[in-house]
Amino acid sequence: MANNEESRGLKSLFDWFANRRKSGSTSLERQEREIADGLWHKCSKCGVLAYTKDLKANQMVCVECGHHNRVDSDERIRQLIDHNTWKPLDEHLRPTDPLEFRDRKLYSDRLREMQEKIGLIDAVKTGLGQVNGLPIALGVMDFRFMGGSMGSVVGEKLTRMIEQATQRRYPVVIVCASGGARMQEGMLSLMQMAKISAALQRHRDARLLYIPVLTNPTTGGVTASFAMLGDIILAEPKATIGFAGRRVIEQTLREKLPENFQTAEDLLQHGFVDDIVPRTQLKNTLGRLIALHQPVLTTPHMVLWETMSLTSTAAE
Ligand SMILES: [Zn+2]
Repeated sequence: MANNEESRGLKSLFDWFANRRKSGSTSLERQEREIADGLWHKCSKCGVLAYTKDLKANQMVCVECGHHNRVDSDERIRQLIDHNTWKPLDEHLRPTDPLEFRDRKLYSDRLREMQEKIGLIDAVKTGLGQVNGLPIALGVMDFRFMGGSMGSVVGEKLTRMIEQATQRRYPVVIVCASGGARMQEGMLSLMQMAKISAALQRHRDARLLYIPVLTNPTTGGVTASFAMLGDIILAEPKATIGFAGRRVIEQTLREKLPENFQTAEDLLQHGFVDDIVPRTQLKNTLGRLIALHQPVLTTPHMVLWETMSLTSTAAE
């Protein structure tokens, strides 16, 4: 009897361990499933796990190390534009394949696959909206769509948006994230640089404000055109900003480049960027800059108030 009880006790202890192991593996499985479901997010810089909901509330900036995770165009618009004021422009513009280009696959197939997978028609969203109650024209590049590459649709949408802004006398903000020109469109892609730059020049001639925000990464033809043409150029912390890739330059120069080469911090030090603004402060910084550049007649109180608060801060 005692033996029986002993063996039952032993058995239950085994059961307990077995159950514990089983429940342990279930919770591990559950954890993995939750990561896969997007409930949790593991920081690619410091490895800390964060609830995606908390991370989103902090605009996808890691609370632990300040790493700026990439955000898509919809999320960026949500972060910057006042609720219920966004009016998208030219949503009907669709890319075509005029060169019938083929690399590993047909460009037209690649486009269709991207559109189905991401739910975007091309790599930029443009529209009109308000930042802290002030109207702006905003373009947001989406790196998920073929590396935010600049094809004819990206060029045309940005140009039309800038032209609308010039007409309405709105400031222009473009959030850049791009690998550069879209090679599948060849020359037509390169022409976009000139087209957007010309529209920006007309905007400038009308004495209107343009602020590019350089996010990780801003490279190639985008850096070589509208990303560097701003009146005030802002960048996100640690963003990679450059023209040619690091490896290409190293191989050409046969020289090892410094660790911080092509970072926002390095560019700020060398005068290519005017300020580095953490994402959590971006909306208010843009709002302040836009308020300061408002024509005096439209919002005299706002400008006066902003000037006064800045003067008083400077006096302190
Ligand atoms: Zn982190």
